[in-house]
Order: sequence, then structure tokens, then C-alpha cells
Amino acid sequence: MKVLVINTGSSSIKYQLFDMPKGAVLCTGLVEKVGEDESILTHKKYPDSDEEVKHIETNPIKDHTVGMNRVAELLIDPAWGVLGSAKEIDLVGHRVVHGGESFSSTTEITQEVKDKIKELSPLAPLHNPANLIGIEVAEQIFTNARQIAVFDTAFHHSLPEEAYRYAIPNSLYEENGIRVYGFHGTSHRYITKRAASLLDKPLNKLNIVTIHLGNGASMAAIKNGKSIDTTLGLTPLPGLVMGTRSGDIDPGVIFYLNETLGYSLPEIKSLLNKESGLKGLAGDNDMRSVTERAEAGDKEAMLALAIYTYRIKKYIGAYMAAIGAKPDAVVFTAGVGENSAVIRSMSVDGLSHLGIEIDAELNKARGGERKISTLESAVAIWVIPTNEELEIARQAFELT
Ligand code: AMP
Repeated sequence: MKVLVINTGSSSIKYQLFDMPKGAVLCTGLVEKVGEDESILTHKKYPDSDEEVKHIETNPIKDHTVGMNRVAELLIDPAWGVLGSAKEIDLVGHRVVHGGESFSSTTEITQEVKDKIKELSPLAPLHNPANLIGIEVAEQIFTNARQIAVFDTAFHHSLPEEAYRYAIPNSLYEENGIRVYGFHGTSHRYITKRAASLLDKPLNKLNIVTIHLGNGASMAAIKNGKSIDTTLGLTPLPGLVMGTRSGDIDPGVIFYLNETLGYSLPEIKSLLNKESGLKGLAGDNDMRSVTERAEAGDKEAMLALAIYTYRIKKYIGAYMAAIGAKPDAVVFTAGVGENSAVIRSMSVDGLSHLGIEIDAELNKARGGERKISTLESAVAIWVIPTNEELEIARQAFELT
């Protein structure tokens, strides 16, 4: 069965074509700068194999419909594609960022589901409208396929009420749905399932702390295989220090910026979402360059790393308390978590009193799923590369 996974952003379309249930990747690609004059489409057939064929084109792609049509053409192109026709696609799995309280699991898309995703757009204004465009364009092109929505919030539906409620007037939750939803759920779910397999534990007995460190970042406390707490909230702004997002701050800072310093609300929104995090602290949201500067003795970069990793360490302690038992493992994933030995090492430094001890040599090794804790460490430390696309393909396949 051919399953196409689509992740549509405001100016991008990321896609992967899977052969399920094998999980083999047939094609993968990215359309960037949709709506600009110099859009870039990068497409690969049989990626990361001996047969890999790569194709790059830079043409103006005026909107998502044009972009997706071009992707469909490439998928059936004799040189770049693997299909005889777009009708061979059986399922399209869509990443949808915000499912609110309405969607606790993967769902087949109907008009009602689309209306609900639209209704939830104020909670994820950068993501849900783009996800919806992706769905509508895919419906027109892949007419034989069933369209499935996989929500980033769904895995965190198991949070208990004491973890998902804010201490604000009840009516704001009851009437307006203001609560913690959490994000990156597809990644946390994938990591949890992989960890159960790697640690050889039944999923419903697995206790871990998952640490997803990409450009966006979040952690989750997993008890008996279920998410019981997570650092992102109503929106993807709180919690860890991110590439350009602040993570936790005192909400009073917002009033101070507005009332005393004269920032407008749109300015504050932009400041906290786009100008803060690593970018705010070190002027750069790419962890590679910030780390290089810190290693060369740049004080600003060193402080940025200290703040970034101190926040992670604090949440490891908090989530061990939330789980209420020594977890089986602490797991790092995503761009920074998979690649940065320095960040992993600083994040768990000084936690041996909690039974967490990293092995400096193992931590330096690169690539793949690997255990990086010492033999004495009561809590294992793992690096598990995330694979959100495969998880979406599996979810879509399993639903049908
Ligand atoms: P993601 O959102 O998962 O694609 O992750 C993007 C982030 O991963 C960016 O901040 C990159 O700088 C970071 N990243 C990628 N490779 C490395 C690396 N080798 N060392 C440190 N950070 C990295």
C-alpha cells in the first residue's frame, strides 16, 4: 500500500512516499519558498540507498496547489518517480498541528473534520491554516486516496487534569478551552515506542523522559507508555529555550513590555516567537554555530548554552518527580538532541544523585539509535533519532 505523508507549512511542503506496512521510503522531498520567485523543490527517489536519485529545481511556485501538482508529476515521472499514476496512492497522511480537545487520535478527514481544524486555527495560526490548505490540495490531486489527519497534540491527550489545567478562572477552560495541549506528539509517541522496543519493556510499563530538541523543542514525562506532562502548552511557546522562541517566562514580562516599555501586542508576539530563544540570547538560532562560538570562548554563546541546558535539566528533575519512580531512560531526539554531544552532556551534568550518568566516550559517537550512559547509571540515557513521517504513515495505515 502506498502512503504519502504530507507536512504543509505556510511556505513549504514536506513529503514522503512510503510502501506500507514495510515502512520503506520510496520518495522524499521538500518544496521551499512557496509563493516566492525562487521556490526550491528538492526531490529524492529511493533516498539514502545505493539507488538514490536526486533532483533539484528552482522555479516560481506561486501557491501550494502548484507545488503539490508538481510533486504529483515527479512521483509519476519515469526518471524521478515510482508510480504509474497519482491514483496509485491509497492513503495521504497529513500532519496537523492543533487538534484541540476534539481529536484524541488519528482521524479520517471529512468536511466536519476540516471545519474543526479551521475552528482551531486561532490556537495555531501559523500551522493549522497551512495544514488545511495541504489537505484541500491533496484531496483534489490524489482522488483515489483516503485522507487521514495525524494531530501533533493527540499523544498528550492522556495528560491528567492537574497537568493540563492552568490556575486561571475555570470558565476560561470550560468555555474557551484554555489549557495545556502540548505538541511534537508524533515525535514523542515514536520515541516512546522505539524506547519500549530497545529497552525490551512492554509499552504499558515503560517510564521515560523524552527530550525533543529541534528548532522547536519540548519534553514529555511518559508513565506506563503514556504522556502525563509536557512542556509546550496552549501554544508552542512555553517550556524549553528554542531556536527563536523564549520558552518559559514570567507572564508579567508581557505587561511590563507593554505598559512600561510601550511594545504593542503584535510586537511582543513577534519578539517572543521569532526574536527570542537562542536567537535572542546569541543572535543566531542555529545550534551548530552557537556551539562553535561557545567552544571558541564567546561569552554570549556560552551563556546561551548554559541557559538552554539548565532549562532541560530542571525539567528532567520535574518529570522524574511527576513520574514518581526512577524512569527507565532519558531519551534525546531531533536535530540538536541527535547531533549535539555538548548539549546532551551539559543537560545531564551533575545529575548522578538522580542516577543519571553520561558516558563521555559513548556520547561522542555519531549516528543511529544508541545508549550513551555509563554501566553504573541507574537511568539509561539514549539517543533515538525521531521519524515523524514514518509514525504518521503508520498511524494512517493502522487506522485503515
Ligand atoms: P530540527 O528542527 O529537528 O530539524 O532541528 C534543527 C536544529 O538542529 C537546528 O537548530 C540545527 O542547528 C540543529 N542541528 C543540526 N545538526 C546539528 C549538529 N551537528 N550540532 C548541533 N546542532 C545541530
